[in-house]
Amino acid sequence: PKYTKAELHKIIDENDIKFLRLQFTDIFGILKNITVTTSKLDSVIEQGCMFDGSSIDGFARIEESDMMLIPDLDTFEIFPWSNPKGRTARFICDVYMPDGTPYDGCPRHILKRQLAKAKEMGYTMNVGPECEFFLFHKDEHNKATIETNDDGGYFDLAPLDMGGSARRDICLALEEMGFEIEASHHECAAGQHEIDFKYGDALKMADDVMTFKIVVKRIAQDHHRHATFMPKPIYGIAGSGMHINMSLCTEQGNAFCDKSDELGLSKEAYGFMAGILKHARGLSLLTNPIINSYKRLVPGFEAPCYIAWSAKNRSPLIRVPFARGAATRIEMRNPDPTANPYLAYAGALAAGLEGIRKGMTPPPPVNKNIYTLSEEEKKKHMIRRVPQNLFDAIGDFEEDGLMKEVLGEGAYEKYLKGKKHEWADYSTRVHEWELKHYLTKY
Ligand code: ADP
Ligand code: MG
Ligand code: MG
Ligand code: MG
Ligand code: MG
Repeated sequence: PKYTKAELHKIIDENDIKFLRLQFTDIFGILKNITVTTSKLDSVIEQGCMFDGSSIDGFARIEESDMMLIPDLDTFEIFPWSNPKGRTARFICDVYMPDGTPYDGCPRHILKRQLAKAKEMGYTMNVGPECEFFLFHKDEHNKATIETNDDGGYFDLAPLDMGGSARRDICLALEEMGFEIEASHHECAAGQHEIDFKYGDALKMADDVMTFKIVVKRIAQDHHRHATFMPKPIYGIAGSGMHINMSLCTEQGNAFCDKSDELGLSKEAYGFMAGILKHARGLSLLTNPIINSYKRLVPGFEAPCYIAWSAKNRSPLIRVPFARGAATRIEMRNPDPTANPYLAYAGALAAGLEGIRKGMTPPPPVNKNIYTLSEEEKKKHMIRRVPQNLFDAIGDFEEDGLMKEVLGEGAYEKYLKGKKHEWADYSTRVHEWELKHYLTKY
């Protein structure tokens, strides 16, 4: 581990840390935590921390109510903000049953299981997420709005970019927590931002995405803004995605790179891509998990609508960025930041590994802008669309046998049940649009 118990005690004393947050993620990608005082450090490390799982969404089964959090000591970090009552540090935890077996609904466990399968084939997985988000104003009651006075565009600098100072403070806080920030910039839409951090091992990056989101929200709050990762908060302007850059590594280095190939890609890279394209629809419920996700996947805003790949343009689901050598990777462009990163990476990895195992090859690249292709051309190239709404995504998920394998029976059932409930709740309600169009017309 990164720190021994003695070292942790020392850090805690030296930094006046009074509270330990034991963090974990529920199956729907929501961060949860239980806070204990630092006097509990030894007992938490040695025995874990019991909690009532039935109070957590997607964990609930009364007979499973006693669960245990076991901290991953490598994930110790101090929150950069202070509290008058003493500082807080955190551990990211794995969830276990009281008998010591891993809980089947723990997303970290689901990703670890998939990473172990990759390991059996000789691979480790690297991920580089690109998270976009909006910074909105709060109203006089401190409630979030969808207003912004920041009308900067892509890469604009201050003073147009009013969110810039919030973003700078977010980057500083993240760096204090060990993030290596590669780039941060204003995005296309007013009030929209992106912060990219350096790629790394898939499990660490899933942990980091969860940390990223709370840091962004917390620092935004200090600037009297509300940060949202909702994919499409405003109709008619770009939404927020979370592109997932992925590569596999062997002991020899990047396994996607092969200089002898026309595009510089290895058989593994093509196989991985083929697997993702094959399962893209089934994966959607993991990569684009909420009703609102599908309002981003529409033509005209650089979000992919079609299942294809290209090394040249950005309209398809998979882009192969230009960089080779250690940076050889494929970029999946449909995921959004509401995805549970553990499940999304586990699903994408499983699909990619299947492609490699079966020696699959992807269809030819589509280098034209797919948005401008005619329906016949799309048919000719057999280009399928991504699901158009959560209901279709649920159907595709159920039809894809691999998804059940990735999540495991228990987690699969819970996830599906939650998503079906979400759709039923939404689709039976009467929306503003309906009233506007129907109330007086009929
Ligand atoms: P874009 O051109 O799509 O905006 P960015 O530069 O914003 O791309 O983000 C690229 C991401 O890809 C970064 O997070 C970076 O660390 C990551 N990346 C670079 N090389 C690899 C690799 N070999 N495997 C996975 N991710 C990588
Ligand atoms: Mg980017
Ligand atoms: Mg970039
Ligand atoms: Mg972007
Ligand atoms: Mg990108």
